[in-house]
Amino acid sequence: MNIHEYQAKETFVRYGILVPRGAVASTPERAREIAAEYGTTVVVKAQVHVGGRGKAGGVKLASTPDEAFEKARNILGMDIKGLTVRQTLIAEAVDIAHEAYVGIILDRASKRPVFMVSAAGGIDIEEVARETPEKIHKLAVDPFLGLQPYQARALAYRLYDHADQANQAAKILSQLYRVFVESDASLAEINPLVTTPDGKVWAVDGKINIDDNALYRQSAIAAMRDLDAEASAEVTAREAGLSFVKLEGDIGCVVNGAGLAMATMDLVKYYGGQPANFLDIGGSSNPDKVVAAMNIITSDPKVKAILFNIFGGITRCDDVANGIVTALKRIAEGSNGPLTLPIVIRLTGTNEAEGRRILNEVNLVATDDMSDAVQRVIALSRQN
Ligand code: GDP
Ligand code: MN
Repeated sequence: MNIHEYQAKETFVRYGILVPRGAVASTPERAREIAAEYGTTVVVKAQVHVGGRGKAGGVKLASTPDEAFEKARNILGMDIKGLTVRQTLIAEAVDIAHEAYVGIILDRASKRPVFMVSAAGGIDIEEVARETPEKIHKLAVDPFLGLQPYQARALAYRLYDHADQANQAAKILSQLYRVFVESDASLAEINPLVTTPDGKVWAVDGKINIDDNALYRQSAIAAMRDLDAEASAEVTAREAGLSFVKLEGDIGCVVNGAGLAMATMDLVKYYGGQPANFLDIGGSSNPDKVVAAMNIITSDPKVKAILFNIFGGITRCDDVANGIVTALKRIAEGSNGPLTLPIVIRLTGTNEAEGRRILNEVNLVATDDMSDAVQRVIALSRQN
């Protein structure tokens, strides 16, 4: 799960990291109010779950309250990498003498939290990583021992020559490590970590990603979830208990079981098609899940044909068949009228005969052959 910059910064503040003060505005009027209250130059920052906001025009300085109003008016509603900006952070601007990068990721290869730090921080850090990777220093932390003070100092001296700044940075690195561990994060990052002309070190941006599997014990973080900021298909899928990943193709896939879903995508590709999604309706086959799956898939304008691939084990073919029938009925009753997309169904396993009978009643035919179903759906998608 992602949280917004302002939420990451609130977390940083609780751990003692120096953060410029700020408040959230979802209207230009509120932005003006906050800027007037601070009485300083502010920075108006789009709150969306993607990086590179600065380059996209989503981070702007404003030296007067009226300018803050103007900048917020431009940024609110802006589209940044497919996400609409609904909130801005109005933060007191700091003077920047230097920008560094510090981050921690959970590294699968070393099975440890790995620090990455660079004195060449700021908006071009990806370029630095690509073109001059030697400027990024890494350190894997023993999760049992944690970040040792000497390690924090060694990393800090990679960022600053000046002892006072290195000491501040060492403290921040230890605090960031605690944030990372105690939030069950998969990533915790400050970019830029800014030095002001008076030699103080500040977190001017913040990013924390939380491991979804830990949300059950991270209720405070789970409560930060901003549904407006997430892609609506993913929200619907999560609420319906479906595993869903949107892809770029045109064949909507509804499958039970993650392994079968992968195999289905493989086969679609093998026969020259492109899956529009990965979607696992899970082991049980509650008709509501099928309805939710159909809603998600039909809301993607790219989808030209739908493939159901159901292997009935615990999942019962008659339940899925009922789900398909119910979904089609609900869609037909909806504002857009009956579904016009072709559907191909492969159904085999538990209660297969009953499933077929239910489908036949509404003139749907199911095959039991996966290759046949995949080839047919690809052919239909091309006619559509
Ligand atoms: P990102 O582009 O999404 O990573 O957004 P950031 O919050 O990192 O902002 C991008 C860039 O805007 C930073 O690298 C800074 O150069 C600049 N910036 C952000 N906040 C301030 C500020 O308070 N003062 C000044 N002078 N520049 C800022
Ligand atoms: Mn940044």
